[in-house]
Amino acid sequence: MTEWQSVKTRFQGLSTRELLDQAEQARREKGRLLYEMGERHYMKLRSEGHRPEIESVLEQDILIYGALSRINEMEVEAAQKQCASCRTPLEPGAKFCGKCGTSVPRETDETKIACTTCHTPQRPEQGFCTCCGSEMRSRV
Ligand SMILES: [Zn+2]
Ligand SMILES: [Zn+2]
Repeated sequence: MTEWQSVKTRFQGLSTRELLDQAEQARREKGRLLYEMGERHYMKLRSEGHRPEIESVLEQDILIYGALSRINEMEVEAAQKQCASCRTPLEPGAKFCGKCGTSVPRETDETKIACTTCHTPQRPEQGFCTCCGSEMRSRV
């Protein structure tokens, strides 16, 4: 624990600018510590299945995951418009290039299973959900 007297001594002779920097630094460190504390608490609540308490955090995870997977989807869609190898325009839904036979990248939600915690589609072979970090339990 930081002693008040030692804090007073430490800040003697510092300028306003330096003191504001000290305060800002401590505020940032506090934020980091609170984040870590909250994350530990969140993991505990999640593993114990306290769904209502974690709902609002989980929602943010789903939004982050949703935005990033949309980027991924757009990249896949762009790749599906022309052959990666010979640049020939592809038919919509083509699995292979009609000219050179190169296979077209394909990934749809149908090949995935829903995470039991956040319900986002996940690859079945994964050990953990890439959205919320929950362990994937195979239900098949
Ligand atoms: Zn091709
Ligand atoms: Zn999940």
